[in-house]
Amino acid sequence: MQNYDVVVCGAGPAGATAAAEAARAGLKVALLEKQFLPRHKTCGGGMPMVMQNHLYDLAPEAFVESDVMFMRHTWKFDDPYLAPINPPGSDETLSLWMVQRPIFDNVLAQRAAQLGADLRDGVALRSLDPQSDGVIVRAEGVKTGTQFVAKAKYVIGADGANGVTVKATKLRKNPAIAIALEVEQPHQWGDGHGELRPDIAHLEYGAVKRGYAWIFPKADHLNIGAGLFRPDKKDARGDSTIRTELQKTIFEYMDALNVKYDPNNLRFRGHPLPTWSGKELLHEGRILLIGDAAGLINPLFGDGILHAVKSGAIAASAIADDAAHEYTNRIHAEFAANFDAALNLSRVFYQWTGACYKYGVKYEKATRYATQLLCGELLFTDMAGRAMRRLKRSVGENFFPALNG
Ligand SMILES: Cc1cc2nc3c(=O)[nH]c(=O)nc-3n(C[C@H](O)[C@H](O)[C@H](O)COP(=O)(O)OP(=O)(O)OC[C@H]3O[C@@H](n4cnc5c(N)ncnc54)[C@H](O)[C@@H]3O)c2cc1C
Repeated sequence: MQNYDVVVCGAGPAGATAAAEAARAGLKVALLEKQFLPRHKTCGGGMPMVMQNHLYDLAPEAFVESDVMFMRHTWKFDDPYLAPINPPGSDETLSLWMVQRPIFDNVLAQRAAQLGADLRDGVALRSLDPQSDGVIVRAEGVKTGTQFVAKAKYVIGADGANGVTVKATKLRKNPAIAIALEVEQPHQWGDGHGELRPDIAHLEYGAVKRGYAWIFPKADHLNIGAGLFRPDKKDARGDSTIRTELQKTIFEYMDALNVKYDPNNLRFRGHPLPTWSGKELLHEGRILLIGDAAGLINPLFGDGILHAVKSGAIAASAIADDAAHEYTNRIHAEFAANFDAALNLSRVFYQWTGACYKYGVKYEKATRYATQLLCGELLFTDMAGRAMRRLKRSVGENFFPALNG
């Protein structure tokens, strides 16, 4: 049996960052990934460029395919509003990076290996057996069946929305699960609608109830997706009507923008999104949860990559500081107030989306604010009150009865 200070399960952005930072701190680390890298990950692959602050030792050219400077918003594929992320007078240039997740995630995993982590792809975690002085980790080569058994002082659960680590604990027994679907459609720039451009991200609000759809530009394709971010039930997995609705929206979005596609040749991929639903314990003994495994997806926007990276770094530093018992508090200090405010805003946005589109999304400063929120340069805690006051002024005090009581 091998011994490690830390075994990280899952090599997405959360796990790869945790492994890199733990190795950088001098810990002996294994990084297990059940798929062979590079692997596909169902995701829009959009993230704020402040990611660079966390990946300062990597050249963005290695994985950024488009730098988005505009958002084109629509309501039911109509009433378009093209807004710059950096309107005249902006103090600082912001943008959204578009990556392909197989490439991006592989870069992060290889970086962890270069920093000293023992990266093992094609090895799936099967069980965790907590002991007083560590955790016995049992995993298996997915092709070879080779057994991997190790003792770790700490385990970091980074195995995403459907992970084994969460199931090995009593944590997160009542998660909020959104659902989203995407296709990747090969695209030649210049084809289709004039505003299909590598520097424009498209966002459509009215077509999916309690969610939105997107078209994100990549080097040689469009990532077209739709998500239900506030489902009626707390867990949207297993509801097949949702998939049908999201699929229909994706077809309509491509038609609306004259995207050429062969309906028989489209591969729809769906995946759950564990969204923030309030403070909860995120470590149990020597097991710490990060990224999607910890439910760290913003409940309003549905973005999780930056939060996955941040939580990975927080977990690694808690262990390196010999302060794993403080991990949940450190996560709450970073995310809780802001995500709670985003959750409150999401309740309004996804219930009264039409009014929010008219008076919020199309407000001249909204796209800049949204990007600043994604970057963490503006906080939902500061923004939510302002946004609500503006909406109430625009549509009348009594429009939001649930919030007036
Ligand atoms: C359709 C869709 C679109 C999205 N678009 C965006 C977007 O544009 N921007 C954004 O910021 N967020 C987006 N998200 C959310 C984002 O994808 C996640 O928040 C992010 O991937 C979380 O990273 P992670 O490392 O926690 O988990 P993941 O990226 O899911 O990585 C988990 C890893 O664990 C591995 N694993 C699972 N089980 C095991 C096991 N038993 N043993 C070993 N390894 C295992 C998996 O193979 C995987 O590699 C989107 C999500 C969906 C579903």
